[in-house]
Amino acid sequence: MGTCLFRVAPAMTRKRARPSPIGFLPLLRPGDLLFTAMALQRQIVGGTTVDEAIVDVRGYMSRQRNSMGRNSSLAGLRIFGRQGQGTRVLLEHTLAGVYVRAMSETAAAAWVQQSEALGGRRMCKALGLRTWRGNHVCSAYLRSCRACVDADTSARGFAAWRVLHQVPALERCPFHGTVLVQELAPPFRQRKDPPLWHPRLPTGNASSEAHAPLPLTEGHAEYLKLWLELVNGELPAVRADQWRVVVGACADKVGGMSGLQLLLNHQIESSWGVSLDALAEHLSLAGGPSFIAEELLLRTTPKDIARRLVVYSSAMQLGLVVPDEGQIEIPLAVGAQLPSVPPDTTPESALRAAIAMYGLPVAVGDVLLAGWNNRATARKGGVSRITMRGFRRHLPTQLLQDLQNCKHFREDSWLACELRRR
Ligand SMILES: [Zn+2]
Repeated sequence: MGTCLFRVAPAMTRKRARPSPIGFLPLLRPGDLLFTAMALQRQIVGGTTVDEAIVDVRGYMSRQRNSMGRNSSLAGLRIFGRQGQGTRVLLEHTLAGVYVRAMSETAAAAWVQQSEALGGRRMCKALGLRTWRGNHVCSAYLRSCRACVDADTSARGFAAWRVLHQVPALERCPFHGTVLVQELAPPFRQRKDPPLWHPRLPTGNASSEAHAPLPLTEGHAEYLKLWLELVNGELPAVRADQWRVVVGACADKVGGMSGLQLLLNHQIESSWGVSLDALAEHLSLAGGPSFIAEELLLRTTPKDIARRLVVYSSAMQLGLVVPDEGQIEIPLAVGAQLPSVPPDTTPESALRAAIAMYGLPVAVGDVLLAGWNNRATARKGGVSRITMRGFRRHLPTQLLQDLQNCKHFREDSWLACELRRR
């Protein structure tokens, strides 16, 4: 292990204390969970208390494992000893960095750039979550893979928690195909008292989670591979904007959505060797066995990325999509720099970006642009009327006027109604 320049921060009880950078732990690799830093601090610095380790790494006291990377710039400053590392922490060391890859590139860049200003609530809303602790996006336990622990230990002297292992839609390690074990849980869970995640490194020694894990079939193996491509930034096809195109193109090839759904149902069941019901349950897929229909109807938000990967891998097996080698995008986190996304200024794309940041399903964009009335937009978009009303009111008047100027909206359309109301 390399030498580290660090000093132990004094125990702080004040929330949001801002200690000076400690330049601690440039040892995290892309894909290591942020939580690893706290556990490493405990291991390297003798005699610190749990609270001291947490404050030293996060900059303030919080008992949560922070898998979604709240206040990432403060942790970045502490861990890497430099300003401006928040994006790196978010994209390389948290689950938020995984799910954000389901957003269009423009929306993802906006989401990352606004991560400090937006605050936790709006950040998680954009991913389609109600709270940061949504159990469909983060497993209840911290999980590990025995083979990863061994590989890490021999390569760098300690094992790290991996971000991908904490994705509930993964039962097996995407690197090794082995069944993940559930290792660490907070000792108590009470509403008023947030659970204390004891900072320690993974050992790979624990019982496996699933009593009867899904078999490692061809479909399952393809799916695992896609997760690695996703976090390496090599799978732009599942980003919201391209996903619309992919679904539409697949439907055209087989003569319609219902035909496509039948084909996918059959292909998924045979290549995974289980029923859709069992698959949805094992992978914690929202929508249960009708997850394919939900995806084809584009009732999908970033938290549903696992469903897109199941559907996409089977569409590939059916030959409906051919992975285009020229399509490989630059990973979002190259040296923690964001690709410069040219500002997209059409009213249509501004509306789609607003939809993404509001955490509404992809389908809502097409429904709103088609100019349906208020009731139909909610029904066809797959969201409640109250949510849709909140979104309409949230849109700037200038955008509504721009939309009306470039496209005809009927008198009973949601847009005309909203403009009359203002
Ligand atoms: Zn592994």
